[in-house]
Amino acid sequence: MSWIGVDLGGLRVTTVALDSDGEQLAELSMRTPRSGDRLEVVDVLETAVRSVVDDADLTMADVSGVGVATPGMVVGGTIGGASNVPGWSERFSLAEMLGDRLGPPIRLVNDVTAAAVAEHRFGAARGEDDALVVFAGTGVGAGLILNGGAYLGGHGGAGEFGHTVVVHNGATCPCGRRGCVEAYTGRKAMVRTARHAMQQGRSTTLFDLAEEQGTREPTSGTFRIALEQGDELVTELLTTAVQVLGAGIASVVNLLDVDLVVVGGGLGDELGDWYRHRVESAMRPHLFLQPPTVTMAPAQLGAYGGAVGAATVVHDHVEGRPVSTPA
Ligand SMILES: [Zn+2]
Repeated sequence: MSWIGVDLGGLRVTTVALDSDGEQLAELSMRTPRSGDRLEVVDVLETAVRSVVDDADLTMADVSGVGVATPGMVVGGTIGGASNVPGWSERFSLAEMLGDRLGPPIRLVNDVTAAAVAEHRFGAARGEDDALVVFAGTGVGAGLILNGGAYLGGHGGAGEFGHTVVVHNGATCPCGRRGCVEAYTGRKAMVRTARHAMQQGRSTTLFDLAEEQGTREPTSGTFRIALEQGDELVTELLTTAVQVLGAGIASVVNLLDVDLVVVGGGLGDELGDWYRHRVESAMRPHLFLQPPTVTMAPAQLGAYGGAVGAATVVHDHVEGRPVSTPA
């Protein structure tokens, strides 16, 4: 039997087909519609599942379950509060809608939790009982692995690391609150800060580079190129970002005493060692336990981690081994 995982990202919908041993049979990536029409996004999710089933030489009858990793807060088969996908903020019954169209059981999971589950099962956090898995990209989130499984919280809302507060009354976050980690470290927030700085006379190549790459909004790759070219504003933004991220991660480590912090996401993957080493250096002075016991490692599964995690979650659910139990 086969398991499909779909990851709805702010920019791309990535999809994988796995067999029962977790071996990957096929993968594909499509653009996320930005029109704000929720049904258009559901159409793309359906197309993505059917296409990856075709690519894996399967039929829908071979599929035992479809896991969907989505931004926002998952409650049962419903999703709400996803600000990175237009039209996705109001709560609605995504599992039922997709189930009616596709047939197999549908399981929703928060996208960051899914990617953390994938790192725990197949990647950098394999064999760890406790880990914090941080993803910095469009936004910033984290998955918590505690006591050997994903921790979802009492209402499925755990892991909103990007909205932990590091500066009281600080910069406005894309979530509308102030001083969150994401307000300084998320790509969306940094792009907005760069735009404001330009309006006030600063220069940066960030937006010209994005145009050369054919995107309106700079990507993590655009930030990497600007950094490599020595762009002053981008270097400043990223220097602040790694310091804030280091302080935020240290706070979580001080609270939970995890042994491992995994760093991934678009920015983590693109900026690689430059980024991770600076985040680690920024974390260390804030650690309470001395000598420090925590280590930091790069995420291993890249852009398909969320989809792999979603397939894993639905597999575990259907097979009767829940991926986690809310405390
Ligand atoms: Zn926030």
